[in-house]
Order: sequence, then structure tokens, then C-alpha cells
Amino acid sequence: MTDWQRFAAELGAIPTITDPALVRQKSRDFYWYSPILKKQLDRKFADLVVVPRTEEDVIAVAAKCAKWQVPLTIRGGGTGNYGQAVPLEGGVVLEMTALDRIISLQDGLLTAQVGCKLADIDAATTLGGWELRMHPSTKRTATLGGFIAGGSAGVGSITWGGLRDPGNVISARVISCEKTPRIITLTGEEVAGVNHAYGTTGIITELTVAMAPVQPWMDVAIAFDDFDDAARFGQEIGEASGIAKKLLSVIAAPLPRYFRGLHTPEGKHLLLGIISAASLVPLREKLRRAGGHEFLCAPSDDLSGGRTPLYEYTWNHTTLQMLRNDKSVTYLQCLFPAGRNLELVAEMRAKFGDELLMHVEFLRIGGRVTCSALPVIRYTTEERMAEIIAIHEAAGISIANPHVVTLEDGAGHKKVGDGQPALKAKLDPYALLNPGKMRTYQQAKVA
Ligand SMILES: Cc1cc2nc3c(=O)[nH]c(=O)nc-3n(C[C@H](O)[C@H](O)[C@H](O)COP(=O)(O)OP(=O)(O)OC[C@H]3O[C@@H](n4cnc5c(N)ncnc54)[C@H](O)[C@@H]3O)c2cc1C
Repeated sequence: MTDWQRFAAELGAIPTITDPALVRQKSRDFYWYSPILKKQLDRKFADLVVVPRTEEDVIAVAAKCAKWQVPLTIRGGGTGNYGQAVPLEGGVVLEMTALDRIISLQDGLLTAQVGCKLADIDAATTLGGWELRMHPSTKRTATLGGFIAGGSAGVGSITWGGLRDPGNVISARVISCEKTPRIITLTGEEVAGVNHAYGTTGIITELTVAMAPVQPWMDVAIAFDDFDDAARFGQEIGEASGIAKKLLSVIAAPLPRYFRGLHTPEGKHLLLGIISAASLVPLREKLRRAGGHEFLCAPSDDLSGGRTPLYEYTWNHTTLQMLRNDKSVTYLQCLFPAGRNLELVAEMRAKFGDELLMHVEFLRIGGRVTCSALPVIRYTTEERMAEIIAIHEAAGISIANPHVVTLEDGAGHKKVGDGQPALKAKLDPYALLNPGKMRTYQQAKVA
């Protein structure tokens, strides 16, 4: 049994949280979107939360965890899904939010500490003409480190692809979990070792990411009578190279009825976009032919009157909007093959009817525009969920299963990076980092 009082005392001045209610709160993420994970993870808590103020603090905590042989699970904003930040075997939760310094912004490259909130980064860099290439729809609460270690793509991916696409994440400074921790820098393709690895392969303290030039972004909402027309329009705008965009999301009725704060025409299917003001004229020209009705156009950064940013109705926020009204729903994560994406989206809608409420987010993968989807599912049983997944996979749609905690079982198209087990062996020889999440990793023999 670990003597947690002694452990905390050995950390000296490094801040810790021992209040049981706060420890429980900081042991949770958004795993409860999945009724399957809710059952498994509701009672998994850390023993202690530690809040490092500096990289030296991080090194000291890693060394103590190695010395005491206790698990260490890293936490950013705690907005991850599938229990990524839930400590399955207790131990320390390392909350990184106090490492929140932007270090430099030069020639379109941002270097920042991992605890920076994504929204704070954009607020600080837009004045100088730069913004993040992509962000999750949790931009207002998620951290830079959590996005790289837990996320995959998001708003901006229609132009820049996913986090794994070469050129988006340039380098990562990573601490090992050993009695004498080492600092290593991963660059270029090596960064895949920590990307979407759930903090199992090392503790990232700093990241360098490529930025995009700021544009005068507009939130644009368009209503369509027919879902397929909206989807075709999304594809057309996605492929229109001259139209600058950050988001193209198509949402099937009746989902928009549940969107708080967005007054949508009843019974219509929506296309929600973030489009450069410079591209509104060509967008509207194409819209005249496509037959949709534009009912909102507002500067994306003008949230006066408490307006919700449009991206907070898309990606996995669509599920959240729905869950606020109906706790029985859940979701799935799909990636449709380019070229057949619209045909397969239509096929799945026809096959599942009301059981699966579709919304798709367009993105550019390998230079081709396709769509991912996080459809809202009316949940019945685990067996039925497995069937729904199998039907998608048999049709050629890739599924990243959000109802499992392990990287191997959940990764799907997000892929467990080839270098991840090797990096874990190097930087986490005692297998203390987020134990239980990299199922196939066998602990190396350590003296
Ligand atoms: C409503 C909703 C919408 C979402 N939309 C998107 C989306 O559009 N795109 C997307 O990709 N994701 C999305 N997500 C998932 C999640 O919000 C993002 O991936 C987010 O970037 C996670 O950041 P965070 O700071 O909250 O990370 P956390 O949840 O705190 O951590 C995520 C994972 O990263 C690890 N980690 C955190 N910091 C570090 C570090 N410094 N070093 C090593 N490992 C670390 C944690 O251990 C954990 O495994 C969504 C989730 C919700 C609930």
C-alpha cells in the first residue's frame, strides 16, 4: 500500500490536490458519452492529483512515480473521450494546466507549453496574423498537449488534414518516467510516437506546431430540404480550392431541433460552415444552384449576446447537444473512403433510419476531400452496438470505436503509430504511464 501522505511530502512545494471530491472530478473525462464505458469507469479514481508549475516539477514527479512504482496519468483539460485520462489503476493524475506559457511564434511556427488552452493560443496569436491550423470543437476548454496526445482532427481539417499529416506538428519535448528522467525531443515523423498515444509513451511538456494565416472567418448556416443535396454541396465546397474554409459540417434533421441557442428552420437539414469573408460571393453563387437557404452569417469571432460559436454544434459537440435532451443516445466515429463517401453516407442513413442520426464533417485526407462522421446513435445494447460497427466495417467504412479504453481496440483509422510501443519501452520502462491503455505493450524487464 502506498503511503500517499509521505509521497506528497516528498514532492515538497509542488502543489497537490487531496480533497476527495476534487480528486474524483479530476479523474474523469467525457467517457460517459459511452454507456458501455460509463459502467466500466464510473469508479476509477486517482489517489492524488499533482499540479506541476514548471518542467522541473514534471521531472521531479516522474522521478518520484518511478521510485515509488506508482501509476501516472497525465491530464490537460479533461475533455477527452473514451476514458483517455481516467486512471484505471489509481495513482497520480498529473494536471498540466499550469504549464501555460507561449514560448515563441516565429515564421509561422508556434512553440508553447502543453497546458496552454487552445482558445488562449488563438487569442494571443491572431493579433500577429496567425492562428492554429486546426482545433477540436472543445477549443474553449482543451489544452494543446491534450489535443496532440488525445485528439486527431477538427475545425481546420478541411484545409490542413489531421494532426498526423506531415507538417502540422513539428516537434515535441518529452520527459521519460524513470528514476532519473530524461528529456528528449521528437521531430517530424517521430512525433507520431506521442500523437494520439493517450500519454502512454511519455510526458510532453512543450510542442511546436505550424500555424495558419488568419482570415476574416464567418460562421455561415444554410438550411436544405434534402440531406443529400446538403451533403453534395458540402463536398462541392470542400473541393473548391479557391474557397477558403475551416469547417463544413452537414447535420441531418431532427438533430438541429436540439441545438441550444441556434434557431433553425424546423425540419431542415443544415450545412454549418466557417468560410472566409473573401469567399462568400463564390459560396453564394454555388448555393443558388444547390438550392439551400442561408439563415445565418456572422463574424466567427463576434460572440456578443452570448452567441455559441458554430463549431460547438459540430464534431462531437453534436452528441453533447443531443445528450442534454436525451441521455439514452451515444455515438460512433466513422471515416468514409474518399470517392465513395456520399454514397456510403446515404446507404447508412437508409439502413439505420431513426436509430442513427447522421452528421458529417468534411476533411482533406491525402489531398482528397472526404468526410468523417460522429453519428448520434439511439443506444439499446452492447450487442447491437457491435452489430452497427460490423455493418459499417463490412461496407468499407473505417470505425474508431469510442466504446473501448485501449489504443489498439479504439484507434481504427487513427492508427496506433508504428513507433509507439518502441517509444514506450524507451521512455516508460516500468509501464507506469496511463496503465491499461496500451493493451499489447509488455513491460520491459527493468533492473
Ligand atoms: C464535446 C466534445 C467534442 C470534441 N471534439 C473533438 C474534435 O473535434 N476533434 C478531436 O480530435 N477531439 C475532440 N474531442 C476530444 C477532446 O476534446 C480533444 O481531443 C481535446 O483536444 C483533448 O484535450 P484536453 O486538454 O481536454 O485533453 P485531456 O482529455 O486532458 O487528455 C487527452 C489525452 O491526452 C493525454 N495528455 C494530456 N496532456 C498530455 C501531455 N502533456 N503529455 C502526454 N499526454 C497528455 C491524457 O493522458 C489523455 O490520454 C471532443 C470531445 C468532446 C467531449
